[in-house]
Amino acid sequence: MAKRDYYEVLGVSRDAGIDQIKQAYRKLALKYHPDRNPSKDAEEKFKEISEAYEVLSDSQKRSTYDQFGHAGLEGMFSGGGFNWSDFHHFEDLEDIFGGFTDIFSRFGIDLDIFGSSSGTSRPRRGRDIGYELELSFLEAVSGIEKTITVPRFEICHSCNGEGIKPGTKRQVCRTCDGNGQVFSSSSFFSTGRTCPKCKGEGNIIQHPCLDCKGSGRVKMERKLQVKVPAGVDTGMRLKITGEGEAGARNGPRGNLYVLINVKPHEIFIREGAELFCEIPVSFPQATLGAEIDVPTLDGKTMLKIPEGTQSGKFFKIKGKGIPDLNGSGRGDLNVKIIVETPVKLTHRQKELLEEFMTISQEDSTPIRKTFFEKVRRLLSS
Ligand SMILES: [Zn+2]
Ligand SMILES: [Zn+2]
Repeated sequence: MAKRDYYEVLGVSRDAGIDQIKQAYRKLALKYHPDRNPSKDAEEKFKEISEAYEVLSDSQKRSTYDQFGHAGLEGMFSGGGFNWSDFHHFEDLEDIFGGFTDIFSRFGIDLDIFGSSSGTSRPRRGRDIGYELELSFLEAVSGIEKTITVPRFEICHSCNGEGIKPGTKRQVCRTCDGNGQVFSSSSFFSTGRTCPKCKGEGNIIQHPCLDCKGSGRVKMERKLQVKVPAGVDTGMRLKITGEGEAGARNGPRGNLYVLINVKPHEIFIREGAELFCEIPVSFPQATLGAEIDVPTLDGKTMLKIPEGTQSGKFFKIKGKGIPDLNGSGRGDLNVKIIVETPVKLTHRQKELLEEFMTISQEDSTPIRKTFFEKVRRLLSS
């Protein structure tokens, strides 16, 4: 199968900046994370976007790819294809997914790269969890309390996180005498490595807890209340301290990061605390002036547009925008007037407009007048 273009895979333009690429990757990675997306091709898809990200986030690889395409990168990924051990963005992934450890073991990544140091069975901090929360436009504007269900590791209650079948004990590992390391000597030096028998723990669980298979933790779905403050926007991240996964061997919990994704609104668009909307008005309304109804986040309000209002003109309605996240006031609502050219006219309406045209003077359309003066000057020079 032919390889897809990396830019196409991430859905970014060829001149996208690194932030855009990161953002696109984050979004797709969350979507196709095999833990969250049970469909069969999610894993393949996840590999594909990760490979694209690996290349496009590295300026040197990216320029090679821009110049030579996939052919230019041949041999970069061992064995011809993408290999997880070539993937250099563990920090990014860790940042995005936090605690979903399954995926790393699924792809055969050594979890020790994340600093879960071997050698003892000492407590380790639980991983951070990422959770994408989709909000409606109005929920984001006014703030809301949401209940979310997060799959995460919890301390196993059967063994209190020890991993040992109740009533039994850990035994010192005989392979390493409890050191967690074994040494092999050559003529020049001796090399230590993690004990393969106890995996560095120094001791062995002979009778593992049946509920957690010795890990001390079990994966459970937890319902959590999340308080979303008024004024959040797409891309913001709420940090909820201590609601990540339970640590191994009763270590402290990681954090939960709730990534906000706001659905677009039918009428309103926002930019920070400023709110925008377009209001269509009829040609006579714009010409004669009118009082028009403007929708706001808290009901409708009346806006007076003066006679001779041009299409595209903005009117500001103070304090009707988005609440400031820091709690200091609200932005404004910016109304853009769109003058709608009438269609499907009756015979009589056309007649009136034709009459209107014959008695119109140049002064009624000053923009048009100035424009044609410029054209005349251009053609006569
Ligand atoms: Zn050992
Ligand atoms: Zn247990």
